[in-house]
Amino acid sequence: MIPYGRQEITSADIEAVTAVLRSDWLTQGPAVPAFEQAVANRCGAVHAVAVNSATSALHIACLALGVGPGDRVWTSPISFVASANCALYCGASIDFVDIDPGTANMSVEALEQKLRTAKAVNALPKVVIPVHYAGDPCDMAAIQGLSREFGFRVIEDAAHAIGGSLDDSIIGGCRHGDVTVFSFHPVKIVTTGEGGMALCNDSQVAARMRLLRNHGITRDSQEMQRRSEGPWYYEQHVLGYNYRMTDIQAALGLSQLERLDAYVERRQGLANRYDEILSDLPVRTLRRNLHGRSAVHLYPVGVDGDAANGAGRSEVFAKLRSAGIGVNVHYIPIHLQPYFRGFGFGAGMFPAAEAFYREALTLPLFPGLAESAQDQIAEALGQALLG
Ligand SMILES: *Cc1c(COP(=O)(O)O)cnc(C)c1O
Repeated sequence: MIPYGRQEITSADIEAVTAVLRSDWLTQGPAVPAFEQAVANRCGAVHAVAVNSATSALHIACLALGVGPGDRVWTSPISFVASANCALYCGASIDFVDIDPGTANMSVEALEQKLRTAKAVNALPKVVIPVHYAGDPCDMAAIQGLSREFGFRVIEDAAHAIGGSLDDSIIGGCRHGDVTVFSFHPVKIVTTGEGGMALCNDSQVAARMRLLRNHGITRDSQEMQRRSEGPWYYEQHVLGYNYRMTDIQAALGLSQLERLDAYVERRQGLANRYDEILSDLPVRTLRRNLHGRSAVHLYPVGVDGDAANGAGRSEVFAKLRSAGIGVNVHYIPIHLQPYFRGFGFGAGMFPAAEAFYREALTLPLFPGLAESAQDQIAEALGQALLG
């Protein structure tokens, strides 16, 4: 089976991890701050806080921006559930903004309209979480304009987008938002096994996130609320978590980071090649690179049942899987998940997202995908669609 995504592990990665395993520090050692510094430098952010997943990063980002009970958070329905769950962890309520069908990113027009309606009834969100779907940058300048007009904070869910850029900056630089979150899960652009990072330029937000990832504990003598009782002394100031990344993971990430540009280049090349070899097939492709340069985490196509002699998405999915092609679907709209229906969400509420989902099929895309395998995928897709 050709998977839809796959990590690449080199002997340099293995050596980097082995060096940590032979060292004194498996966790809370020097590799974590070194990885944080490397990502921060690369993205042009002042602070980077490494954690054990992007889900944890989203959670502490929300908390550091003050999200709590009574607050509202909005995100895109075409994302992984973690983009919404972070608000619920904080006791806030979640709502969604429909997508732009051309990119599957949050529609700026839909956001503006929803903000105007919300303002009229005094129900504005505290935080909006745009998702750079498939690695393709959202229109962050426009979203920032709305954040100033309506007074909300912005967390960029860039789980798909490390290595991508906006028109005027690098994703992760937080030029148009408060916090940017990366994921290092093996299907993403670079991996640490499990892992994530939250980047920001505000030192108070960064300090809050550092506190929250480590039980709410500080050892900084400057911050103590009571007199030190000795060299062992530390204080817990808030209710935090154990969201730490290990040095084993950070060493892998640091080694992977060296290949980030090459990976994005390769992904862009493979996506352009898909555009060409699929151009005669009745599939819809998304627009890319409209507001910057995509990291091309995914290559989704839209399979239109009618144009394809009635061979709808489910049928095409099944045919490709039986041909050994590990197609996938990104994503089931979050608001249609049973858990979210429990909050009153349901079908018909975000029609562009729902229409996108009905046709969505993710083709394999990862740096190690051979052109010959890509041709085989296009061939099988043609067979499945046209018989
Ligand atoms: C993968 C993913 C996450 C969660 O990442 P983890 O590191 O697995 O917690 C969040 N948002 C999006 C859009 C993702 O694709």
